[in-house]
Amino acid sequence: MLMLLKRGGLAAGLAMLATTGAVAQSYPTRPVAITVPFAAGGPTDVVARTIADAMTRAMPGASVIVENVAGAGGTIGITKIARASPDGYSLLIHHIGMSTAPALYRKLQFDPLKDFEYIGLINDVPMTMLVKNGFPPNNLKELVPYLKANAGKVSFANAGIGSASHLCGLMFMSAIEVDLTTVPYKGTAPAMTDLIGGQVDMLCDQTTNTTQQIKGGKVKALAVTSPKRLETLKDLPTMTESGLPGFTVGIWHAMYAPKGTPKPVIDKLVATLQAALKDPAVVRRHSELGAEVVSTDRATPDALQKHLTAEIARWSPIIKKAGVYAD
Ligand code: ASP
Repeated sequence: MLMLLKRGGLAAGLAMLATTGAVAQSYPTRPVAITVPFAAGGPTDVVARTIADAMTRAMPGASVIVENVAGAGGTIGITKIARASPDGYSLLIHHIGMSTAPALYRKLQFDPLKDFEYIGLINDVPMTMLVKNGFPPNNLKELVPYLKANAGKVSFANAGIGSASHLCGLMFMSAIEVDLTTVPYKGTAPAMTDLIGGQVDMLCDQTTNTTQQIKGGKVKALAVTSPKRLETLKDLPTMTESGLPGFTVGIWHAMYAPKGTPKPVIDKLVATLQAALKDPAVVRRHSELGAEVVSTDRATPDALQKHLTAEIARWSPIIKKAGVYAD
C-alpha cells in the first residue's frame, strides 16, 4: 500500500513536472502584465516601460505590458501581485519601498520575504532635491536657514508613505531638524506636475523623473543625493558638498512574481530580464537619465533575495527610530 502510494506520488510528481515544463516551453501564450505601484509617467513607470519593451523584444512572440496600480505608497499594487495567480502573467516592478514597507505599515497585507518569487535586481538610481521655480533659495546653503525660518509655510511632495521620495524627505528633515508639511501623491509624476505648476514647494525624486525637467528649466535643482556628481547633471553639487556630509540616498528597482510561480517560468523570466538589461535601448535610456542597470550577477533571484533581506534589516531600525508609521 505504502509502495503504491509512493509510486502514485512519484507518478503524480513526474506528471506535474512534465506539465510545468510544457507550460514553461510554451510560456507566454498571452500578454504578461507588469504592475507598477505608482502613477503613469513617474520614475518607476519609466523604468518599467523601458524594461517591458526590451522584454517583449527578448521573448519571441511575447507581449509585455505595464499596468499602474497606484496608492498607499505602492502597497496597493504590491498586494495585488502578492495575491495574483502564480502563472507568470502577473509581475511586479517596485523599488526600495519593498524593503521599507514592513517597518512603516502596521497592517501590511503582504510579506516581502514570503509572498514572492524573486526574478532579479534591475538598476541603481540616484535622486535630486528640487524646489519650484521662483522659490527663493538657490542652493542648499541658502535653503536650510530659509526652511528653519519658514517651516510652517513650506510643502514637501512625496509619493506616499514608504515611497522613495518620502524616505528622502524624512532623511532630509531629520538631517536639518525641521518639520515640513508633506503632501502625498499617487506617484511622483503628479507630484512633479504640481511642482512645475507651483502648487507644492519641494520634491526629492529619482533622476529618471527629474533629469529632463531640470535640463528644461521647469524646476530648480539644488543637489544630487549620490556620493559623487553625475555625468548627466555635472553642475549639480552633491548633498555632501552642499553642507550635509554623508547624506546619500540611492534607490534600486527589482522584479517579482507571486509565490508559487513555476520554476521553469521564473527561469525564463530571469533570462529575459538579463537580456533586457543588456538591450542597448535600456542601457542608453538609463545613462541619459543618470541611472545604471545592474550587472548580470545581480539580476538573479538569489542576489535579489539577499539584497532585499539586507535592506529590510538596514531600514527597520532607522524607521522605528524615526517613529514613522501608517495603518
Ligand atoms: N518612485 C517614486 C517615489 O518613490 C514614485 C513613482 O515612481 O512615481 O517617490
